[in-house]
Amino acid sequence: MSTIVDLRSDTVTRPTPGMRQAMFDAEVGDDVFGDDPTVNALQERVAAMTGHDAALYMPTGTQSNLCGLLAHCQRGEEYIVGQLAHTYRYEGGGAAVLGSIQPQPLLQDAHGRMALSDIAAAIKPDDSHFARSRLLCLENTWNGHVMPHDYLTGAAALARERGLAVHLDGARVFNAAVANAGESGDAAAALRRITDVFDSVSVCFSKGLGAPMGSALCGSKELIARAHRIRKMTGGGLRQAGVVAAAALYALDHHVDRLWQDHAMAQRLAAGLQDLPGLSVRSAHTNIVFLDVTEGRGPALLAYLKAAGVLATGMLGLRFVTHLDVDAAGIDRAIAAIRAFAQQS
Ligand SMILES: *Cc1c(COP(=O)(O)O)cnc(C)c1O
Repeated sequence: MSTIVDLRSDTVTRPTPGMRQAMFDAEVGDDVFGDDPTVNALQERVAAMTGHDAALYMPTGTQSNLCGLLAHCQRGEEYIVGQLAHTYRYEGGGAAVLGSIQPQPLLQDAHGRMALSDIAAAIKPDDSHFARSRLLCLENTWNGHVMPHDYLTGAAALARERGLAVHLDGARVFNAAVANAGESGDAAAALRRITDVFDSVSVCFSKGLGAPMGSALCGSKELIARAHRIRKMTGGGLRQAGVVAAAALYALDHHVDRLWQDHAMAQRLAAGLQDLPGLSVRSAHTNIVFLDVTEGRGPALLAYLKAAGVLATGMLGLRFVTHLDVDAAGIDRAIAAIRAFAQQS
């Protein structure tokens, strides 16, 4: 078989025929004038789903988080964030570069959680020596890990008690919602339970949901009005964006409830990789599997897999991400290739 099994990220999905049709059919207008009916419908839909007053469509998740951070914090203020969180580590330092906002990164445990005692200790008193602590940023899922509800509510309560607002980088929050919903299958209620904890939430349509682009920032009317100005300033004011917003609306209709299949594929992959010499599954949560291999063997495994038509990444250990465009046959090919590598070496 010649097709590639691409497990580098859930961003590699291509729009389905139904999604392309929805894009083709989209009614559009100039969104800088607020005239695009499809963008407006998407924003209203996402605000309602997350239980927030307003939402703003964004080209990318990085811009959505950036506009959120800059809407919460003034220059000389700070946000508390995980050392390995996307909003600290993987966004080019944008909050510091563009907003003069200081990050206060904290260690996370293997599941992505910061200790509440560390958060409490990092919140600075009002003293001219210190940047003013303004915001706590959490991420759910983090590298596939679903944050326990008690952790989210505990961290948010602590932050609010000390006058901080709380932002969620929910690039994969639909995966968390579907995992939390479990057998009940009520992902909408599970999503609300998470998003109700936060003052602002950023969600992505271009990851597990399979849209070609786009994210949304959700929050109060005032916060979204500030973010709207910042989005324009950072070059994110879009024109006939309904063409892409239609893909996001389609994804919300058709691609949320199916996320459990991606989670099942991740479990299938992890199960197929048990008992191999020099190789172990470090974690397999929601749609992301991390493998540990014997020191120094990672690049060789990635190269071997690539030659076998299986793509993965090696940024934080070997990572395999399941999504809309991989099925059980693709997962089984990945398992066979990884097993072959482990057994020959
Ligand atoms: C992908 C991702 C983002 C934003 O990504 P973009 O590539 O800018 O759309 C933000 N946070 C997390 C946790 C992500 O995985």
